[in-house]
Amino acid sequence: MAQIIDGKLVSARLREEIRHEVEKMKEHGRAPGLAVILVGEDPASQVYVKNKEKACAEVGFYSEKYLLPETTSEHELIALINKLNANTDIDGILVQSPVPKHIDYKKIVDTIDPSKDVDAFSPVNVGRIMLGTYSLAPCTPAGIMELIASTGTDISGKNCVVVGRSNIVGKPMAMLLLHADGTVTVCHSKTKNLKEITSNADILVAAVGKAGFITADMIKPGAVVIDVGMNRDENGKLTGDVDFDGACNVASFITPVPGGVGPMTITMLLKNTLTSRKLH
Ligand code: NDP
Repeated sequence: MAQIIDGKLVSARLREEIRHEVEKMKEHGRAPGLAVILVGEDPASQVYVKNKEKACAEVGFYSEKYLLPETTSEHELIALINKLNANTDIDGILVQSPVPKHIDYKKIVDTIDPSKDVDAFSPVNVGRIMLGTYSLAPCTPAGIMELIASTGTDISGKNCVVVGRSNIVGKPMAMLLLHADGTVTVCHSKTKNLKEITSNADILVAAVGKAGFITADMIKPGAVVIDVGMNRDENGKLTGDVDFDGACNVASFITPVPGGVGPMTITMLLKNTLTSRKLH
């Protein structure tokens, strides 16, 4: 039976470490500062922003929250980001996605000073991840690296298979595993013989967005299985990309959904902001 990787526990441990470091930091200088911007009134985004604000307070960060109306122009948003780029109390700037259609999200991300881009989505930071010279890594893949580390698994030389190649999960995940000396295969919707490939994975990361897509017969006995998927079933219940019950009989470690990858994301945002504070 697989051991459950408890994302809440790993996340709480990391937050405690961050809180301690911030406490010490404040004795000699200022706390890390995060600015979160939300444009419009998307209810899910409002919850995310609130949770980020709460998490900042818990670890002793300084935070600023900007709730802007749906009608905010791209020009106005860029002007605010430029102001925050120049603000020495702010180390991290996050624009909650999605933004309204009249705003070009790519242009917005490009405006954020790369040293304050705590989502690590800007081309400069994506390039650094490719080169292996990064300080800031995208939150979800970075959180997964922490979860894998928590199992005591040494990634070096392991067959790592990432199913999904999005810019925010699959691709950066593959790069982080590669930098940890994994032998990495990236699969996607055009991949042939997917089962053959996943069955060879010592570490399997599923980031597909399809409930129960990875079944027990696709998993190598003893594999570490990371389920990134967040799918809602017809009753609104959150489920992952992995058939959890079946996979538990085959894997050595597995992340549940909810309670696995999800709780790590905001924690890694805090970690990136702390890192960014040290860079400023
Ligand atoms: P995307 O939709 O951007 O990417 C999905 C990927 O899955 C694509 O690369 C796609 O391939 C691939 N795919 C689709 N069908 C198949 C198939 N039949 N076989 C193999 N690969 C396939 O999703 P994201 O990367 O943004 O997110 C993935 C999941 O993770 C979602 O459920 C999302 O909600 C969740 N998520 C969870 C987070 C968390 O904090 N827990 C954070 C971010 C995402 P192709 O490129 O060829 O289309």
